[in-house]
Amino acid sequence: MLKLFRHLKPFRFAVIASLAMVMLRALVDLYLPRLTADIVNIGVGNGDIPYILRVGAIMLGIAAVGGVCAVLGNYFSARAASGFGRVLREKLFSHVENFSLHEFDLFGTASLITRITNDIMQVQQVTMMSLRMLIMAPIMSIGGIVMAVSTDPTLSLIFVVAIPLLFLLVTFIGRKGIPLFQAMQEKLDGLNLILRERLTGIRVIRAFNRDEYEKKRFHDANLDFTNTAIYVMRIIALMMPVMMLVMNFTTIGIVWFGGIRIDLGFMKVGDLMAFIQYGMHIMMSMFALSMLFVMIPRASVSAKRINEVLETKPEIVDLPAPKKADQMRGYIEFKDVTFSYHGAERPALKNISFSAGPGEVTAIIGGTGSGKSTISSLILRFYDVDSGSILIDGVDIREMSQEELRSKIGYVPQRAFLFSGTIADNIRFGKEDATLEEIRQAAEIAQAAEFIEKLPDKYDHWIEQGGINVSGGQKQRLSIARALVSKPEIYIFDDSFSALDFKTDAKLRAALKKETANATLIIVAQRVSTVMDADQILVLDDGQIVGIGTHEELLQSNDVYREIVLSQLSEEEIA
Ligand code: ADP
Ligand code: MG
Repeated sequence: MLKLFRHLKPFRFAVIASLAMVMLRALVDLYLPRLTADIVNIGVGNGDIPYILRVGAIMLGIAAVGGVCAVLGNYFSARAASGFGRVLREKLFSHVENFSLHEFDLFGTASLITRITNDIMQVQQVTMMSLRMLIMAPIMSIGGIVMAVSTDPTLSLIFVVAIPLLFLLVTFIGRKGIPLFQAMQEKLDGLNLILRERLTGIRVIRAFNRDEYEKKRFHDANLDFTNTAIYVMRIIALMMPVMMLVMNFTTIGIVWFGGIRIDLGFMKVGDLMAFIQYGMHIMMSMFALSMLFVMIPRASVSAKRINEVLETKPEIVDLPAPKKADQMRGYIEFKDVTFSYHGAERPALKNISFSAGPGEVTAIIGGTGSGKSTISSLILRFYDVDSGSILIDGVDIREMSQEELRSKIGYVPQRAFLFSGTIADNIRFGKEDATLEEIRQAAEIAQAAEFIEKLPDKYDHWIEQGGINVSGGQKQRLSIARALVSKPEIYIFDDSFSALDFKTDAKLRAALKKETANATLIIVAQRVSTVMDADQILVLDDGQIVGIGTHEELLQSNDVYREIVLSQLSEEEIA
């Protein structure tokens, strides 16, 4: 929790202002009962109307000052706390953006979202409460006690019983609630996870008639969360009546014993009235303090979850002085690369070595799960290799900046992903300052122009979140256009032609060939017809390269390749 507070620094003015206002208000609250006592003792006691009016006017003035201070104090504390929340969200978000995919896998998207929203909200709220009460409560309780004792030391003995009693009760109740807060945040994570999955997978759920099952899954998680929340809230809700009870009994005690003391002539009526007010202030601030002691642990659960994210060092960071890779263009070299995903038993890739150069098409073919997409991810440095190295343009990719590396590459992922925005926006994602002409050209090569021109808004056609209002093949072609528009040195097509019909596939590859004559192409594919005319074909099986060569060479010498070919083409086509 404390560690997070250094992010409050930009708001120190608001923090100080709020604390000052709160302090001023506490002083006002402590002084007012004194004046009440004077009015009753001197004014009412002597029937001195002008005195009552004079002191009454002063009281009104002071009370007004107190009111203004209260408003300003609340304003500044809200400002500081919400600014604090904003900064934390920004910090967390930009930190998460630097995560490699390993760290994403580690936390999970749902938990990251909860941490950035709900957990920060908790911390923000407690910060606001602390600003309002952490200074106020001690001043009020200590000041109140001092004033009460100076008014009537004997009667003050009541607090010796009342304060510890209140404190004990409140902390006892609070203790029970705290461990449950952690559980509550975790259950919220679980709820978000199911919700996210359910919403993104709605089509599959419908298609397989799993609505009922999914509904039940959500219902269970929701109920689980609710039950914990209700249990916690019930415990916390006990606080208020308990403290009212203690407070009211204290007041009864004050009036009771005070009455006796007035009878005996030890005390004046006005002093009793002031005393009751001090009693209220003391008990209230004690209560506020103990509530804070309950709330702070709750927020520190959240703070811990935030810190966990902030303290996770991204596995992939740029070197302080990255090397430039501007001597060559379009060279890729894998040197004996082995890689495993965290937590996986077996490496996803073993001893991969190959090279690719400009003007060449390198195709990668292999069954599902053979590691084709993993090769693409490694070239983009989404993950770091375990051993061996990957050189791009002669430089190890770990020694160049991620920005330079990725600017060299046009990547079309296996699962096309579009953002909400227009078609032009989505293509421009590949190159921020692309002109409409460049966008058109890219769409033309990607065989997307034809269907875009048929849309009423053409390039301004709005794509919904996740690209749900275009077909799979259209999505593919748009994401190909997005990669083409930046005219990179290296293109990686990860199974990007699978959603296209054979004719479009062939047309697209013909157009690509012209456009990318000087670039390096990596084409991952399942179809033999897509890879047949590549300059070299890597045959991947279970994370290992079992053959490299041209179509003819492999057909002669490689069993795995021949098997794939035979399963897809007829004898005549092969001949
Ligand atoms: P392909 O693209 O050839 O179908 P992948 O490269 O996607 O295969 O996957 C290779 C292997 O790595 C598979 O066994 C798969 O289960 C595993 N794998 C892929 N992605 C991850 C991941 N993020 N975490 C753990 N294992 C993964
Ligand atoms: Mg794949």
